Amino acid sequence: MTQAPQPRSHSGTDQDQFLTILSREEALERFEAALFPRNLPSEWRKLADALGRTLAQDVIAPIDVPPFDRSNVDGFAVRSADLASAAEGSPVRLMLNDEVIACGVAPAHPVKTGTATAIATGGPVPRGADAIIMVEHTQPSGVREIDVRRSASPGQFVSYAGSDIARGEALLRAGTIVGSREIGMLAACGIAEVPVTRRPRVAVVSTGDELVQPGKPLAPAAIYDTNGAIVTASIEENGGDALFFGAVPDDEKQLEAVMRRALGESDMLLLSGGTSKGAGDVSHRIIARLGEPGIIAHGVALKPGKPLCLAVCEGKPVVILPGFPTSAMFTFHDMIVPVLRRMAGLPPRSDAKVTARVPVRIASELGRTEFVMVSLVEGPDGLVAYPSGKGSGAITSFAQADGFLRVDALADQLPAGTEAEVTLFTPHVRVPDLVIIGSHCTGLDLVTARLARDGLATRSIAVGSLGGLAAAKRGECDFAPIHLFDDKTEAYNTPFLTDGLELVPGWRRMQGIVFRKDDKRFDGLDAAGAVRAALADPDCVMVNRNQGAGTRILIDRLLADARPDGYWNQPRSHNAVAAAVAQHRADWGMTISPVAHAAGLGFIPLAEEHYDFALVTARKQRPAVRAFLDALASNEVRAALTEAGFRPA
Ligand code: AMP
Ligand code: MG
Repeated sequence: MTQAPQPRSHSGTDQDQFLTILSREEALERFEAALFPRNLPSEWRKLADALGRTLAQDVIAPIDVPPFDRSNVDGFAVRSADLASAAEGSPVRLMLNDEVIACGVAPAHPVKTGTATAIATGGPVPRGADAIIMVEHTQPSGVREIDVRRSASPGQFVSYAGSDIARGEALLRAGTIVGSREIGMLAACGIAEVPVTRRPRVAVVSTGDELVQPGKPLAPAAIYDTNGAIVTASIEENGGDALFFGAVPDDEKQLEAVMRRALGESDMLLLSGGTSKGAGDVSHRIIARLGEPGIIAHGVALKPGKPLCLAVCEGKPVVILPGFPTSAMFTFHDMIVPVLRRMAGLPPRSDAKVTARVPVRIASELGRTEFVMVSLVEGPDGLVAYPSGKGSGAITSFAQADGFLRVDALADQLPAGTEAEVTLFTPHVRVPDLVIIGSHCTGLDLVTARLARDGLATRSIAVGSLGGLAAAKRGECDFAPIHLFDDKTEAYNTPFLTDGLELVPGWRRMQGIVFRKDDKRFDGLDAAGAVRAALADPDCVMVNRNQGAGTRILIDRLLADARPDGYWNQPRSHNAVAAAVAQHRADWGMTISPVAHAAGLGFIPLAEEHYDFALVTARKQRPAVRAFLDALASNEVRAALTEAGFRPA
């Protein structure tokens, strides 16, 4: 076990909050030491309900299989000694006994010297017989006799009792996961029920005043409870039975009541949120009252996931996962799944791994084991892993990612070009047919929807226009969607192309001023007039855009030297501008018309932005690229783009 490199904290509050931060390895070791070895409760399950379960005990064969000496072919049961001289030219004649042994028929007569009994595949070999002759090697002779043209060795075509499974042998060992083949063996022995390890019951509680369950309306400043759903599903994926107790407000009394009830009904309690050590975070204080030994680790050198809290109360694991869904998911998979699977009697997860090159430098915090989600694309020399994280507060990164890589606690970066091991979320790498890396636009979905209908998988990685251009130059994508404005030439996109890239016109997006429809200050004005009106009112707050955005250049030109309130609020997307205005954090900003209309805002058009595609010429003939170009040019897609507020080029 490696010792935690002492993490250096730069903020004083950090120091107060997490005085003892354990390394990932140390925390896991202490947690497991407090929980294992332990007796795993077991239960009897009918065969049909035992699939995927772990056998709790060895299963001993109660009978022989087959239960009797059995014929393997259709033919005649004989005494091999009778046929010693039989050959093609000198057949031996045997008299037929007066019965036919079909499957399920117990023989009534012995096979005496010079006789044979007709027998079907699966029929029990009668007394006296020691071999079976195939029907093909005999010839009827009259009604009651056959001529046999081959000799037979003793035991020929006979499966002896117990030759498959012998009574008393260990049929299946404890710890075996019951699959269809195991079910087959059990059924062959007549076993209808088996003892399996009981699935651990895991109580799930989300905490936070702001949480609303999916399906319910979202109040202002509230968010949907994501962790409840993620954690519940992940428990089921890893051999547990989840009991969801809903989201509980940050109220100590209420939370303690729920935690006690949940722990009483389960083998493990998993909370999420409220794991900081601030005043409003009460869960860890309650845990301290739930039983011995209590908290094992509060603060683990993981990123994301530092506030993870691991406890054991009266033998049961009690865990507080970090609130941010991505952090909750990583810490769950890295630190809780090993424990859960051991409690379920399952072996450790065997996730598929691949090696891929990192195209850009990935900075990492020294002293914390860091997880970075990545999307995989096929580069010119093998797989390339694009970091797809949007911070631990983001949830979409999970769905778009193919897997994750782990940066060691002792490394402060992965340099560009590093070969890294990627743990896949799926059993195999999903290689997309078309790779688009660059700036995202909702219009793009209207084009790729058509490809999806034709069974072509598109991977779209949003890294902004410049990041997309760099990826295109490295040959890592088919298209880079870009909207780059060149100040000098006053032209979009073309000035940024280099050798090996060509421009495919996409569509135009009208940029303009957004405001709330009931805001009379902007009524009937053009863009320049609207900005003048805004500047005239000191209470009028703007929302800006990030430096480098084409839209920002337009804003700066309208503002000239003015720096009104809100100027330094510089979000990176069109959507964030609309949200700020719709939610009254700002009164005006500049965005594109489809986004303004979707947010129900007023819009004053100013100038069109060109959203085009830098196509990697070397990839032009690929079928998926052709399909994309066809879709882009089709009347159907052009109509859909127009309908959504874009102007196809
Ligand atoms: P906390 O640790 O409670 O301060 O939560 C950290 C962040 O995660 C906050 O932005 C919370 O709103 C968010 N969060 C906490 N629990 C959940 C949850 N169940 N689903 C989605 N977000 C959550
Ligand atoms: Mg909270």
